[in-house]
Amino acid sequence: MTVGRFAPTPSGRMHLGNVWSALLSWLSVRSRGGEMVLRMEDLDPRRCRPEYAVQLREDLRWLGLDWDREQTPQSQRSGAYAAAFRALADRGLVYPCYCSRADLHAADAPHAADGRLLYAGTCRSLTEAERRAKTKPPAWRLEVPDREFAVQDGLQGRYAENLARESGDFIIRRADGVYAYQLAVVVDDIAAGVTEVVRGRDLLDSTPRQRWLYELLNAPPPATYHVPLLLAPDGRRLSKRERDLDLGALRARTTPEALLGCLAVQAGQIPPGETASAQELAAVFTWKKVPRENLPVPQIVQ
Ligand code: GLU
Repeated sequence: MTVGRFAPTPSGRMHLGNVWSALLSWLSVRSRGGEMVLRMEDLDPRRCRPEYAVQLREDLRWLGLDWDREQTPQSQRSGAYAAAFRALADRGLVYPCYCSRADLHAADAPHAADGRLLYAGTCRSLTEAERRAKTKPPAWRLEVPDREFAVQDGLQGRYAENLARESGDFIIRRADGVYAYQLAVVVDDIAAGVTEVVRGRDLLDSTPRQRWLYELLNAPPPATYHVPLLLAPDGRRLSKRERDLDLGALRARTTPEALLGCLAVQAGQIPPGETASAQELAAVFTWKKVPRENLPVPQIVQ
């Protein structure tokens, strides 16, 4: 049985880019008679608000994108993340890191090809005495092995990274005590029995790190489909700052069928100019027609 998920971050009103990923996740699951889980990724208390979560559920309903169960929001699952954190720490794979943002940038570290900072391992070999001498609370990093993690993405094809050389030890718990996205998303997807993850292409490079977590937590990893991003006319990716493309503005000037129809045309599923409900699209959906490269925002909703 296919189990997919919506994993929105309730930090603002849903925008067209979120609708695009939500639609493709839903179609992939519903076209195969699978189950859909909704999870609020409200890890960051400074950015997320309960009223945005309420609005998100309402916007998904308006679109006709339904779900079968809702998982406990991330803000209430720190016990589960703490248990996974302890299991990793018990294996000796977790260490405290006292580096400031400035230290990380100043360190003589080569950069990963995509501009991410490659952590130089500065705090990995601190002695107990050196750790005790630190006064500020540390972030906690997971050690990564010097080996390649390859992913066969359903849309983007093969993607591989040597974690030690291209990514470096990564943070699983921030200095303020909040568990990091990488750990939370894996613990939650395992708990919900998720078998496929559909999300933006910008998260493809997280997948090798997540594969390492699946391996350590003894769980089979889900299939992944990393979908292209919708780009504004100037080539920027859409963000929650584009108020004219958030669902508040879109709902005032269009219908669910017209909006989903435009997105389904971009996704190669129906001919230009047609409209369709979510249910109608589920009956014809195929990944084979979805493009891999980033796409312009469709005209009709601009
Ligand atoms: N919560 C993330 C977002 O809002 C999605 C993370 C994921 O799908 O793994 O984009």
